[in-house]
Amino acid sequence: METLSPVVLGSLGSLAAGSLTSVGALPVLFGRVPSRATRDLSLGFAAGVMLAASFFSLIIPALDAADIRFENEAAPAAIVCLAILLGMGAVALMNEKLPHEHFNTGREGPEGASLRRVWLFIIAITIHNFPEGLAVGVGFGSGGMEGGMPLAIGIGLQNAPEGLAVAVALLGEGYSKWRAWGIAALTGMVEPIGGLLGAGIITLSEPLLPWSLAFAAGAMLYVISHEIIPETHRSGHQNRATLGLAIGLVIMLFLDVYLG
Ligand SMILES: [Zn+2]
Repeated sequence: METLSPVVLGSLGSLAAGSLTSVGALPVLFGRVPSRATRDLSLGFAAGVMLAASFFSLIIPALDAADIRFENEAAPAAIVCLAILLGMGAVALMNEKLPHEHFNTGREGPEGASLRRVWLFIIAITIHNFPEGLAVGVGFGSGGMEGGMPLAIGIGLQNAPEGLAVAVALLGEGYSKWRAWGIAALTGMVEPIGGLLGAGIITLSEPLLPWSLAFAAGAMLYVISHEIIPETHRSGHQNRATLGLAIGLVIMLFLDVYLG
C-alpha cells in the first residue's frame, strides 16, 4: 500500500466509501426496509459522523494548513471562516437553481410537492457526496493512509443510511425497487470524482488546500442542517435521531484520533 500514489489511494478510498451508499440501499431490493424510527436513528448517525468529520477532519486540518502560510493568527481563521461560508452558499445556490422540476412530470398538487421534496433531498445528498469524496481524497493526499483511512471509514459508514434514505424515499413515490436502488447507488458515485479531485489538488496546488478543506466542510454543514436533521425529525423521532447523532459524532471523533 505504501507504494501507491496519493491520487490512486484517494480515488480508491473514496470509491470504496461511495460504494457503501449502494450497500446501504440494498434492503429495498429484498423488501425488508427497516422501520422509519430505525431509519431516523441511522440517518441521525450519518449527521453525527458528518458533523464530527466537518470539524475534526476538515476544519482543524484547514486551520493547520493555513497556519503554515501566515504569520499572524487572524488570516488563517478568516480564510477558513470565509471558505466555510462559501461552501454553505454554494450548496444553497445549487439547491435553489438546479432544475429538478422536470422530474415530476405528470404530477400535480400535494403529490407533486412531495416528489419535489424527495428530489431536493436526493440532489442535496448527491451534492454533499462530492465534498465528502473531496475530503477523503484530500485526507489520503495530505496524510497518506493515516490521513485518509479514518475519513474513508467514517464517510463510508454514514453513506449507508443515506443510501437507504434515498432508496426508501423513491420507493414511497412509486419507483420500482431496482430503479430506487440504482438511483441511490448513483448518488454515491459522485464520491470517487471528488476523491480524485481532492487528492489531485494536494499534489497540484498547496495554497488551495485550506480553502478546499473548509469549503468541503461548509457544504457538509449546510446539508446536515438543511436536509439531514430535518429529515430525521419529520416523523416525530427526535429522540432516536439525536441518539443516532451522538453515536455517529463520538465514533467519528474516535476514528479520527485513533487512526489519524
Ligand atoms: Zn453524508
